[in-house]
Amino acid sequence: MNLCRPDELKSCAACCGLYNVPDATRPTLWKKLHRRTTLFRTTPRSLEEIDAYQRTVRSAEPEAPLEEIIHVCEFTGFLDPRRLIVGCQLHPSAPSNSEVDLRGLCHYGSMACKAFFCPAWAAIPGSYLGILVHALQDWHLYGLVITDVDFVISLFSLLEAQIGGTIDATRIEGREASAVFREMISWKDTWPLRGASTLRRNRYYFKPSAPAGELGSEDAMDRLLDCLAFTFDAPTNSGAAKAVVEETLKRFGRAYGRE
Ligand code: SF4
Ligand code: SF4
Repeated sequence: MNLCRPDELKSCAACCGLYNVPDATRPTLWKKLHRRTTLFRTTPRSLEEIDAYQRTVRSAEPEAPLEEIIHVCEFTGFLDPRRLIVGCQLHPSAPSNSEVDLRGLCHYGSMACKAFFCPAWAAIPGSYLGILVHALQDWHLYGLVITDVDFVISLFSLLEAQIGGTIDATRIEGREASAVFREMISWKDTWPLRGASTLRRNRYYFKPSAPAGELGSEDAMDRLLDCLAFTFDAPTNSGAAKAVVEETLKRFGRAYGRE
């Protein structure tokens, strides 16, 4: 499976710095990506014009990145008319590039962009990926969830402990358990205790703390809450945060048992 673009409904651009900004909520990122896409579609493919495009985007988006070391690439945009697929507008297959690879013009250089694979590629088991790719239908949440290896492994560990075995994907397709599962993965964007945080800090560069299947429930709970604390820079060490997770896990268990 191509984790960066598993199908024609969503994709990820986390390692292009998409979420590395003070306001990474969906409406704000959508507006930015839409503006960049519209501008780049009308930019002639010459060095001077692409350079001018880059300067225009920089002046329209003057906010400092959250992490200095992660470049917020001006060339990330939408690649399809429906604005569902985020990705590299310098890629040879991007609209109007006529199969010419322009990625050498970006901050990282062509080779780095071509060769990078985040830890999720190796760390998330295929059985989890199948369930997640089916449940996630939007680029913004997809890029937050699929790249957060600890969140995914912790969540599945807790779910498996709740139901006493591995999850049967067919038992949560389009049913009540599926709705509760979607609610839990949506915590990466709409965690109920996030307060007014506009941060959606991305963990794409974090290696897994423990491989799938090797986490006890207590550790899984701690890691899940740590991932949410990092994402929103909001404390999750209160009893209230743990209570939200435990209550939702119980609802999932009951719904799964009824399917
Ligand atoms: S963060 Fe990972 S999944 Fe996302 S675009 Fe980069 S390599 Fe692909
Ligand atoms: S040039 Fe590189 S960093 Fe920029 S959008 Fe393309 S792949 Fe991402």
